Formats: sequence, C-alpha cells, structure tokens
Amino acid sequence: MRYSNCFVPTLRDVPADAEVISHQLLLRAGYIRRVTSGVYDYLPLALRVLRRIEAIIREEMEKAGAQELLMPMVQPAELWEKSDRMAKYGPELLRFKDRHDHESCLGPTHEEVICDLMSRELRSYKQLPINLYQIQNKFRDEIRPRFGLMRGREFVMKDAYSFHADDESLMAEYRNMFDTYTRIFDRLGLRFRPVEADTGSIGGNDSHEFHVLADSGEDVIAHCDGCDYAANVEKAVSVRSVPAGTPAALAELHTPGVTSAEDVAAFVGIEPALLIKTLVYRVCGGEQDGAIVAACVRGDDQLQEVKLIHALAADAVELASDAEIEAIGGVTGFVGPVGLQQAELWMDIGLQGAIGMVAGANRRDLHVTGLDVARDVAQARFIDLRETRAGDRCSHCDGSIALSRGIEVGQVFALGRRYTEPMEVQFQNQQGKREIATMGCYGIGVSRLMAAVVEQCHDEGGIAWPDVLAPFTVILVSMGQSDGVMEASGDIYQQLKRAGVDVLWDERKERPGVKFKDAELIGIPLQVVMGDRGLAEGVAEFGRRGGDRREIAVADVVAETL
Ligand code: ATP
Ligand code: MG
Ligand code: MG
Ligand code: MG
Repeated sequence: MRYSNCFVPTLRDVPADAEVISHQLLLRAGYIRRVTSGVYDYLPLALRVLRRIEAIIREEMEKAGAQELLMPMVQPAELWEKSDRMAKYGPELLRFKDRHDHESCLGPTHEEVICDLMSRELRSYKQLPINLYQIQNKFRDEIRPRFGLMRGREFVMKDAYSFHADDESLMAEYRNMFDTYTRIFDRLGLRFRPVEADTGSIGGNDSHEFHVLADSGEDVIAHCDGCDYAANVEKAVSVRSVPAGTPAALAELHTPGVTSAEDVAAFVGIEPALLIKTLVYRVCGGEQDGAIVAACVRGDDQLQEVKLIHALAADAVELASDAEIEAIGGVTGFVGPVGLQQAELWMDIGLQGAIGMVAGANRRDLHVTGLDVARDVAQARFIDLRETRAGDRCSHCDGSIALSRGIEVGQVFALGRRYTEPMEVQFQNQQGKREIATMGCYGIGVSRLMAAVVEQCHDEGGIAWPDVLAPFTVILVSMGQSDGVMEASGDIYQQLKRAGVDVLWDERKERPGVKFKDAELIGIPLQVVMGDRGLAEGVAEFGRRGGDRREIAVADVVAETL
C-alpha cells in the first residue's frame, strides 16, 4: 500500500478525553474514531489489526475442534423471557420494539439464541459434543463506556458455546478451551494470567478469566506467591451486601461499636433512611482479623456519598479518624463526599481502595496511592482467599497474596444446565431416553484485545505492535523525492509485494522527520529506508522500529524482511 493512498488520519496532540495510553495512541495514530459514547469506527489500520487477531483466534478455535457460525445481533425478547434473563440482565440489555410492536434486544451475548437453535436441531447423543463459535459485534449499554476500545458499548467478541451429554465431557471441553485461550494469548505476545472468576450475570459453576497484566486494568487480581492460586478479587474476597436494617449481619462481624444500620448511619452522620446498602469486606491483617465496612448513601435518588466508616475490628487497630481518611482521600481521591460517577467508580474498584485506605489510616502511612497500600495489605492476606481455597484443597498455602491490575480479555464458563434446562436443549441418550444437555460458553474480547496489546506494547514514539499483529510488516521510507530514490523505492516495493510481504510505502512529499515520527507512531515493526546516499552504493538502511538501522544491499531487502 502507498502511504498517500492510505487513510491514516494521525493527530499531533493527545486527545483531551483519552485517559489511558491505548485510547490515546489508537486515536493519535489514526486507528479509531469515536462515533458516539462507547461506539467507534475502526479505520483501515485498526481493521487490519483486528483481522489478524481474529485470524489467530479462528486458527486456534478450529484446531481445538470448534466450528464457526454467525448468529444475528437482533434477538427476540421471548428467548430472554424463556431463559429468565429479560428482567435479570438489567439496563445493559438494549431493548426496543419493531414496527409490529414486537419486543427485541441487541445481543450482549448469545446463550439464548444458540440454545434456541440447539433445542430445535439437537436430536441424538451422537451429535455431541459440539462447540460452535462466532466472531461478531455485541452491544451492551454499559453504564460507563470508557478507555476507548477497552469498554465500549458496541464491541467485537468471539463467543463459543459447547454442548455435551454429560458433565465429564463438558469439563474436558472447558479444559480444552482453557488451553486454547492460553495458546491464543501466547501467540498474541501478551503477558497474561488466568484467574478464578465469579460467574456474574452469565451464571453457572466453574469459571476462569484471562487477564492481561496492565496498570490501566479495571480489574484487580489476587495471586499467591506460594502456589498457583490466582483469582479475581470479586471472587477471592467475599463481598457481602447487607441491606440496611439487618443488624444481625453486621453484629456477626464483631465490629465493636457498629452493630446495626443505625450505628452505620450515625457513623456516617446521616439519617438511617438514607442508607441504602452497607458493604462488608472481610479482611485479615496478620493478627488483626476484622472487617471493613463501607456505606453507600443515597439522597434524592442519587448515590451521593460513599464513605468508609469503619476499620478493622479487634483491639490491634485504631479506628481511622475522619481527618485521617480525608488525608488519604486527598492522596487517592477516593474518600469524602463524592459525586455519583465517582462513587460508582469507587464501588467498582472500592475494595482495594477501601482496604488500601484503611491500611493507610492505620499505619499513618498517608503518602501512598491506593493500590500501593492495597498491595501492602495484601501481604497480610484476605481471609476469604483461604476460604475459597479450602474448597479446592485440604491444606492452606502459607504464601502471601499480592494484587495486580488486569484487563479481562477472556472468560470461560462451565454453565451446566443453567440455560439448556429452561431453553429445553434435549437429546436422546444411548438408552433412548430424553436428557437435558449440559453446556459451556467461552468469550474473548476481540476489540478489547487490540487495546490491551497497546497497553503492553508501546513506547514514547507510539505503538510497538508485536510482529504477528502489526497492520503492515514493513514500512519503506523514501528519503527525498529524487527520481533515483523514487525508482529504487518503487522497485523494492514491488519486490516486497511479490514476496508476499505486507509493506507500506511512505512515498509522501514529507520531511524525513515527519515520516519517521509517523512510522513510529503507527507502529510498523520493520523499517527500510531508501535515500540518495545509499542509492549510489546500492544499499538501503534496514532496522527494527525503535532500534538502530544498518546498511544492507538493496538486493537483500526482501530476504531480510521474510
Ligand atoms: P467486564 O467485566 O469487563 O464488564 P464481562 O465479564 O462483562 O466484562 P463477558 O460477559 O465475560 O464480559 O464477555 C466476554 C469478553 O468480552 C470479556 O472477557 C471482555 O474481554 C469482552 N468485553 C466485555 N464487555 C466489553 C466491553 N464493554 N467492551 C469491550 N469488550 C468487552
Ligand atoms: Mg461487563
Ligand atoms: Mg468481568
Ligand atoms: Mg467476564
């Protein structure tokens, strides 16, 4: 491709509303443009990357025995009534009526549609097991679309659904998909970690998430240095939601001085009626077992204030005073009267924040950011990690727990009969009896992956795509516009194309500085530079993005890039 024909609208400045680096770079390097909140255009460079991610996913899915199909984005509401998710899924499900007053929704996921299909087509155990997948746009009306492709409302997902005669077969496929995901993320060149996960609104039994490790991640994962235990904190720590007015639940925590909703309200300094929820986080800090209690306060129908109200029990720790909490709030920005958005954000990441703040208050260690403190506290470990583990093994590991941030790029679920039962996915078993099939589902955030890769692969110059994902393998830069240079570059360009190398030829009438800046920004891994000086000697410069270039014979260019 010639650069001057390529639609790459790069930007000089960092767009103001882009907080994370992947969002900034994908905008600046001309990959994506925002259409509306959480909805993006994928420009030609982005589409090339997306297609490469998809190709790797397809290859590995097919190798694993799955078959591709394509289901509709628009789904009839009846199917969601049948699975009992119409009401449960909440406002992320975008609902609408067609001209015949028929209620429909935009698919945020496809358990209903695939179960409906299978309920009609599945007859015999001989058809099982089967794993069907698609790569398709999903729509979720996310409350806070943000960070560009990381949390969109419309996004691309690979979703796979497997059906089985029994749970043994399901668990074999679950393992198969787990291994397949590991291969996919390895091939994408990512640093990632599979972790135990909560099943969320999808439901089911076992689940693992795959997290790309990055400080910009919205999730926090807890991992043990003594064994291979790793879990999303949503799963690792039991967060119990105690409705206001359930003193028993609070009393159970042995939290001195706070045993009722009234105590909580008094502590926060509000009318008890305004207290909508008390979140109880249980932690164990060395010898200091206890609880952290955070209250959500509602006024005028809006969540207005989230305050940390009480720290660890036992006598080992003092209560964090308001002043101390505020002081930490000044550092972390988490505590104190906060607006709706901030409060919700806090609720999302609140666990670590809360723990971090309490630890900070208790240790009078006020100059650390939320996550740093949380890491310290993590050394002291979460009680519930032990409880979670107790289910898996008889003995507890004594290693310490550390926290890191992660971007969830995939999740596998052993769903069991959560959908197949209400949706009547049945088959005839070997004895000729009707049985309900058991099911797994497996998602990968394809467009989110593009952002996650950039979070890990970038430098001051721009995006540093891994070779397997770069939109072009080679950028051929013509220095100057002399006939000789243009002719020699044109020759190299044709040779590279003939050899099947994806090459972008920067033949624009721009200064070399501009060309090199753009090449770095858009992130093409290999550079070939043709200028007047080398022309006479029959040499070009060749090198990797971000590294030094060396002279090579023009005749060797193709061989070097293969
Ligand atoms: P999250 O916890 O980030 O909201 P999720 O658990 O709701 O994600 P799943 O239902 O597990 O998402 O969907 C499968 C995959 O789709 C996720 O692992 C993630 O990579 C991707 N995904 C989910 N929501 C979004 C989104 N809003 N934008 C981009 N990708 C998403
Ligand atoms: Mg979600
Ligand atoms: Mg999730
Ligand atoms: Mg998930």
